[in-house]
Parts: sequence; C-alpha cells; structure tokens
Amino acid sequence: MAEAQELLRKYYGYPDFREGQKRVIESLLSGRDTLGIMPTGGGKSICYQVPALIMNGTTIVVSPLISLMKDQVDGLDSIGVPAAYINSSLSYAQVEMRIRKAERGEYKLLYVAPERLESERFLNLLAGLVVPMVAVDEAHCVSQWGHDFRPSYMRINELVSHLPDRPLLAAFTATATDQVREDIVKHLKLSEPQVFVTGFARENLSFSVIKGENKRDVLMGYIREHAGEAGIVYAATRKEVDQLCEYLLRQGVAAGKYHAGLTDKERADAQERFLYDEVRVMVASNAFGMGIDKSNVRYVVHFNMPKNMEAYYQEAGRAGRDGEPSDCMLLFSPQDIHIQKFLIEQSVSDPERQAQEYRRLQQMADYCHTPQCLQRYIVRYFGGDAEEDCGQCSNCVSPDMELTDITLEAQQIFSCVKRMRERFGMTLVASVLKGSRNKKVLDFGFDSLSTYGLMRTRTEKDIVDLIQLLVAEGYLQLTEGKYPVLRLSSKASDVLSGKERVVQRIRLKPSAPVIQDVEAELFDELRKLRTEIAKREGIPPYIVFPDSTLREMC
Ligand code: ADP
Ligand code: MG
Repeated sequence: MAEAQELLRKYYGYPDFREGQKRVIESLLSGRDTLGIMPTGGGKSICYQVPALIMNGTTIVVSPLISLMKDQVDGLDSIGVPAAYINSSLSYAQVEMRIRKAERGEYKLLYVAPERLESERFLNLLAGLVVPMVAVDEAHCVSQWGHDFRPSYMRINELVSHLPDRPLLAAFTATATDQVREDIVKHLKLSEPQVFVTGFARENLSFSVIKGENKRDVLMGYIREHAGEAGIVYAATRKEVDQLCEYLLRQGVAAGKYHAGLTDKERADAQERFLYDEVRVMVASNAFGMGIDKSNVRYVVHFNMPKNMEAYYQEAGRAGRDGEPSDCMLLFSPQDIHIQKFLIEQSVSDPERQAQEYRRLQQMADYCHTPQCLQRYIVRYFGGDAEEDCGQCSNCVSPDMELTDITLEAQQIFSCVKRMRERFGMTLVASVLKGSRNKKVLDFGFDSLSTYGLMRTRTEKDIVDLIQLLVAEGYLQLTEGKYPVLRLSSKASDVLSGKERVVQRIRLKPSAPVIQDVEAELFDELRKLRTEIAKREGIPPYIVFPDSTLREMC
C-alpha cells in the first residue's frame, strides 16, 4: 500500500486515497477479484490505474465510450503513464502496431472498446500480451437489468479465456442493485470476489426535496440566486425539456438543451457550449450524461422525479465533481409518479421486470417523502453504512421539523386502511379520512365506516403526505402494479395494538382550519425576515421556509 500511495502522489499529485479507493486497491493488490461499487465521481479510475502501475505487464481496460476512452488515455499521457486505446476509430494497421507495442511492454494500460471483443481475430492478437489484470469500467453494461446493456460486454469472458494466464478481474460501476451486482459477478465470472460499496456519501452535495411549490418559480428563484454558476436541469420528457428551455431563455437565462430527439450535431454543439461555459444552464433529458465530465457543475435540479434512485443519484452526482459545495434539488409533484409509471409501461413489457421497476419507483418516491436525512437515505439505499445525519440536506436543516409523536394519526390511518379491507389506494383512503363526499366514497358506502371523517380537520393533501410518510417508513406497503393498494405491515399492527409509538421528524401543520384571509402585510414582513435568516445562514430562502409555510403562519 505504501507503494500505491507513493504512486498516487507522484503521478496524480493527490496526497491520499479516498477511503473506498484504499479498500479496493488493497483487495486487488492481494490478488482477489474485486467489484467496486462507487458513485459517479467517486474515483473509480484510480482504483485500477494505480494497481496497473504496480503490476507487471499491461492491464486491459474495457470501457464503453470511445470519447471517454480518449480522454482517459490523454489524461494518463499528460501525467506520464504510458497508455493507449484500441477502438473502431483506428485502422487495422494502427491496431496491430499498438498491440506490438503492448507486447514489448510499452503500455501499462490498454483501453479496449467492448465491440472489439466480438472479433476472434482480435482476441487472438491479444493472446500474446502479458496481462496481469482486466479492469471492466461501467460493469453494469453487462446486465440486462442495468440501464445501458451492451451485448458485447458478454464477450469479456471470451477475452479472459483467450489469455494464456487467467488475469485478475476488477469490475467497477455506480449501479448497486442486487440484480445488477449478481449479473456482474455471474457474467464476468468473478471468482470469489470481494465487493465494496463505498463512497456513496458525497459530502460536498446538499440534497433537497421541494414539494408543493410552483416548480418554475422555485427554479427561476434558484437560478437567479446562482447566476454565473453552471447547472443542469433534468426533466422527464423531451417536450418538458423543450418547454422549460424556452421558458428559461425568455427569462433571460443562458440555457441550452439536450435530448435524444435532437440531431447528433445539435447535441454535440449543446454539450460543447456547456463544457466551455457558454451556456450556463443545460436543460436535459436523461440522455445527457455518461459522456460528460464537467467538474464545475454547481447544481443539478430535477424538475421531475426520475424513475429510480440509481438514475437520480447518477444524475445528481454530476454536481460538484471538483469537490466544491454543490446543490442537488429535486422538485417533486405527485404527477411525477404518474409520468414515470407511464414511461415504465411504455418501455418494459415483461411483467416481472415491470414489477421490479414499480418497486424501485416506489423507493424513489419514498426518498421524496422521508423525513430523515436525505444523504443517509441514499447511502443506505446503495448498501452502505451511514452513521450520522449529513446536517445539510433539506430535512436536516429545516428548522420547522421537529420530533413529533404521530401515533394517533398513524392509528387513524391504519384502522381506516383495515376497515377498507386493504383493497384501496392512498387517494381514496385519504378521501374517507377527510370525510369527503365524492362519488367513489359514496358508491362504496365508505361514508358509513367508523373511520369516515376521522381526520376532517386536515386537508386531503396533508393526509396523503402522512400516508406517504408512513409508506416511506415501512408501516404501510404499496402493492406493485399500476394501481397500488395500501396494505398494513407488521410494524403497523404493533402501532394499532399500542405496543409501538410512531415518532417522526416532521412538521405537523395545525389541524385547525387555516384562516383564509392572509394578511398581506404580515406575509411581507415574514418574507423579509426569511431573507435575513437565509442571508445569515447562507442558504436559499425556500429552505428556511417555503412560501406555503409563511402563508400558514399568517
Ligand atoms: P468515476 O469514474 O468514479 O466517476 P473518476 O475516476 O473519473 O470517477 O474520478 C473523479 C474525479 O475525482 C477525478 O477528477 C479524479 O481526478 C478525482 N479523484 C480521484 N481520486 C482522488 C483522490 N484520491 N484525491 C483527490 N481527487 C481524486
Ligand atoms: Mg469513470
């Protein structure tokens, strides 16, 4: 390890490995196949580059994108590490020449595009190399469950078996679902691998979830406060990207856009202008991503909730790659869940797979509703340990969140779910608790239930929020499928029987009816106060108090 540390200083100029890097490198140097699961920006490259420098021979790196490959090799060149790449941009003569050089031991790393592995002739050419290790970057491409399945990744094993000595295998990805992890181990034939899930806590990122506000207002407010900084705004559909970009341009923001409906040239131009800071804000669909490595992205705003936590964290993780403090803000509306359901229905036909996608969507929605530390939720989701709250996400800094005993409210909700025989979704349960006289409630005769109107002093939206919170915390479960139904979990039974209490960090709104006539003056005063607090604390005003809270205070 001392040698690795020395090389890190000498070539890269970094004083220390990150905690996760150290564990992966130690594992590889001890000769174990290793799977490293680290977030985007976590520093996966160094995990195989440094061991490659120590090992005898040429490490082969399989990497999916031609543009990334060239960047990596140029980067290595510039710090004096001999490396080369082989992909479809080279002529056969050039390929041969590079392999000759590799045979003579002139490269420590040889990057190979997976498509090359389809050629038997090419595999035979590689058989003459001394290869101590094969490193597979973006290893989730080997899994059909991942988001960028590449059939040629299945050929990596052919490469391994063509080599005279079985090399050490190192695989890296930012995708951490069990399914993908299993596929990587299985298809790459990792032998008794050590798996490390690390670095998912990105301390320089402040997460926030904003609900129930006008999204465009929040976004514009934020962009104005961060004029001059580079940011990405992700939206769910092409149409939304187009409209949002137009809106920002109308507001005088130097915005660009990127989605799969544009021509290659339009996309390349947009990316280039963003990279060179000509465009400050990039409005993009999820097509914008893997290829970009812009280090000074100060914020990533999700205008819509994405389909799962992997997608969210991959995209949000593009903020602050330089380690400077950056924001990741998600603007949630219940409509987002419907959009994502629709997109899943359109793109996934296999029922088992669909069920899984719905489950992951639910976990994404849970993130938007958890009252706990957001950073912690993320780290746990990816299978890491998080001992402490981050102290900077919107849940941690929200001054109006207090530990509140909501046992009574929870019991009311659970007994209503039970009375409705666990056969209905949260909207209808909320209507019944509210005592609403809508058609569905009356048609089912729910107005005669003993739980009917039990929570009539609250708004239906507040009741839905409470239900969502209880889902996020595992008291209630939502069945899979298009029309999820609320079910009680065993945790809920304990609450109903009075064995357990429910205490959550939450802001419970007063249940008395809110006075309608808002005193404009008072509202203005409160706003001024809010601005002061925000300035003093150095945080955006909407995090201090959203407008809705101010209105309630009036
Ligand atoms: P990933 O492939 O996991 O997305 P990269 O390997 O591209 O991440 O690394 C992301 C950034 O972190 C790069 O700019 C890299 O130079 C930097 N980095 C990696 N390891 C360290 C370290 N130990 N100390 C400081 N910076 C590091
Ligand atoms: Mg990488």
